[in-house]
Amino acid sequence: MLYLTQPENLEALFPNEPPFRTRQLREWLYEHPVLATEEMTSLPSTLRTELADRLWPFVLEVEQSADAGMTRKWLFRTPDGAAIEAVLMGYARRTTLCISSQVGCALGCTFCATGQFGFERHLEAGEIVAQVAFAQAFLAGGGMKGCPSRITNIVFMGMGEPLANYARVRESIRRMIEHMGISARAITVSTVGVVPGMRRLAAEPWQVNLAVSLHAAEDALRTTLVPLNKRYPLEQVEAAAAEFFTAKHRRVSIEWTMIDGVNDSDVQAAKLAAIARRLHAHVNLIALNPTPLTPDRPARRARIEGFLGVLRREGVNATLRDTRGSDIDAACGQLRARSAGQ
Ligand code: SAH
Ligand code: SF4
Repeated sequence: MLYLTQPENLEALFPNEPPFRTRQLREWLYEHPVLATEEMTSLPSTLRTELADRLWPFVLEVEQSADAGMTRKWLFRTPDGAAIEAVLMGYARRTTLCISSQVGCALGCTFCATGQFGFERHLEAGEIVAQVAFAQAFLAGGGMKGCPSRITNIVFMGMGEPLANYARVRESIRRMIEHMGISARAITVSTVGVVPGMRRLAAEPWQVNLAVSLHAAEDALRTTLVPLNKRYPLEQVEAAAAEFFTAKHRRVSIEWTMIDGVNDSDVQAAKLAAIARRLHAHVNLIALNPTPLTPDRPARRARIEGFLGVLRREGVNATLRDTRGSDIDAACGQLRARSAGQ
């Protein structure tokens, strides 16, 4: 599988080909990815045919479209049966690709479909970048109109906890930056608060963005939603986020899934505002996408407005994220949950 080999080591797979061939192949895999090897026009047709079965480390099993074609959701299946989800969202001036870093997740946040499923395995660096290459090829081939024809933003907000799969996620980011022309500033790593991983990321040379999924501003409540809070309580998560901000001079964002009657009170908003002000962080609210395994409901619209009002009065920059593709199970882990249920 071509993406499972480091781009620098592709030569080793083709001992009988001249070096310029593997250079050309690397361009087709990373710089100008295409959906099929027949499109790799600078390669001889025998080689293209030979490579056809080795291009993607997965097959496309489900493709769904929503928001008048501007949201595309893919479920890929690996040869060992693992499901990988990615979601592409097109806007007039940008495209955002949401990618997975693990199959399932061991951290078990109560409201998350991926967490409810448990952990299956880590994704390889090649399985992570192949999601990016696939979407890049899709856009370049005119798959989505009315938006840029290349990926402008990457978010690690699909299945899995990226900082619990640090080395492979790191390698995938390196390939995006060094081989795929994606700027570090366009990449956002989202974490539920894996403190050692946040510290390591702060020490990397790249200007990537960090999003911290907080969901509650006091430990007792947060622990009921995010079991990892027992291990890394709020104070430690905040300290690691502050360290990231100091190291990178990049604004951290705080993600907050709004659950009706659970974490949508003005008291939580005021406590969140204090944390956000200390971190100079931007707050993104996301209305809960309900999952089958809990009775949790999304916060009501008026309550979200009230919560936003408190944050803004306290001088915090806050926005409500649009729930793109909610009708196609586009939230974290949901397509996989449905396909497994059938
Ligand atoms: N593990 C990382 C990244 C993947 S989850 C993290 O937790 O940050 C990406 C985002 O989706 C997180 O902010 C998470 O809180 C949010 N999310 C998970 N389940 C959701 C749901 N059912 N509705 C809305 N947002 C959800
Ligand atoms: Fe894992 Fe993130 Fe889901 Fe929590 S919200 S279970 S950390 S994927």
